[in-house]
Amino acid sequence: MAAARGVMKASANPGLGLGLGPGVLRQRLAPTFGIHENIAGTSTFQRGYSVPKLSSFSAKWGDNNSYSKSGSLFDGANLSPLSGQSRSKRELLLPVPTLVDSKVIFSAAPAYGHNKEGHPECKARVSAIMKALDQAGLADESRAKEILRLDVKNMASVEEVATVHNMSYVKGLREIMDKAREEKLILLDSTGPTYATENTYREAMMGAGASLAVLDHVVAASRETSTPPVGFALVRPPGHHAIATRPMGFCVFGNVAVAARHAQRVHGLQRVFIIDFDVHHGNGTNDIFYEDPNVYYLSTHQVGGFPGTGKIDEVGEGKGEGTTLNLPLPGGSGDEAMSAVFDEVIVPAAQRFKPDIILVSAGYDAHYLDELAGLQFTTGTYFRLASHIKQLAGDLCAGRCCFFLEGGYDLKALSNSVVESFRAFVGDKSMAHRLDNPAVLYDEPSILVRQVIDEVRSIHSL
Ligand SMILES: [Zn+2]
Repeated sequence: MAAARGVMKASANPGLGLGLGPGVLRQRLAPTFGIHENIAGTSTFQRGYSVPKLSSFSAKWGDNNSYSKSGSLFDGANLSPLSGQSRSKRELLLPVPTLVDSKVIFSAAPAYGHNKEGHPECKARVSAIMKALDQAGLADESRAKEILRLDVKNMASVEEVATVHNMSYVKGLREIMDKAREEKLILLDSTGPTYATENTYREAMMGAGASLAVLDHVVAASRETSTPPVGFALVRPPGHHAIATRPMGFCVFGNVAVAARHAQRVHGLQRVFIIDFDVHHGNGTNDIFYEDPNVYYLSTHQVGGFPGTGKIDEVGEGKGEGTTLNLPLPGGSGDEAMSAVFDEVIVPAAQRFKPDIILVSAGYDAHYLDELAGLQFTTGTYFRLASHIKQLAGDLCAGRCCFFLEGGYDLKALSNSVVESFRAFVGDKSMAHRLDNPAVLYDEPSILVRQVIDEVRSIHSL
């Protein structure tokens, strides 16, 4: 039965999670989970959810399974580009000695005002994580010294977000909040789709602000100890699909990208290594740093999934050639695949790059229970990833490491996986054996996994 379940899942959901553009959808007949554009142009969520009569600002799509990088409503804002960027440091919310003694520093920006009933990227996500941390005893008073929560009140500034996004997009989004207020809900982009409420601009700015605050505190601690805490920004909306000019794939502002620029500009940490283990390719982060030799972007994702980018030969361009690494995993890849990828690709790539800080786009939608894709990571996989990435940061960059929440839409899998990540950070034993059900897993495609690992190692001379 276990194998049968796996086969059924793999065939019903061939590497596709989020909706694809209309040109792509017309070529697909098999039902998939996620959101689709139907012929009338409204977005339909297959589990009984629909968004009729939304104002659509969606961008144009190409026919080649890639996305247009222009053509959005934000293009017309006609605002001047950013000049005189602010480099001011933010105030620390906790004293440095307190930070030094801790093992995790996290912030939560649950974005309750950015929500659409029935949409997978909803306000229940961060709440579920917080509740699970509480139930696991990780939010208890007895753990308060090890696990610090930052109560972030400050949004990111326009200037901070505009270090990676066009000013016309940032200000354009703020300007359409009036329209969102009138209409309750507007569609920013058909991919996903990406929606906005009247609170979306503010909530996205809060998410970016909470991300920067976590990074500031980790870096401050790292100046005083060789074992600083790991940071975790539990934020929404997610960010890795958002491109310079517009939102995309549930994502509004690229939180990790903004944090990377902040690490460089404000803290002088020039070499930033980004690991993105979300099941989808983080095309936004990929594109923003595609020609930048000082930001290494390494993504593992399911081959053929949304948004169709992240092919193995996308390696960066110009001065940035070689500092983008894309590793598309075959459907069904799980713990064994990721373990090999970590040892044979992530570690040698990071060792060669010699980062000053490691940032992680932590999406939990590669979990076997997540219906938006077809990989087979377990909560145990996420425990090991968290543990190994922390170790890698300790070995290479004075322990400086921050995680940022991206995807993860099965609330149980998401919250258990984040709890397991926290356990790894504080040095607790994994409880994954009580959380995972190996009986429902099927054999990983080990031959295909071996081929792609060997190919990426060859391309990147690892
Ligand atoms: Zn994702």
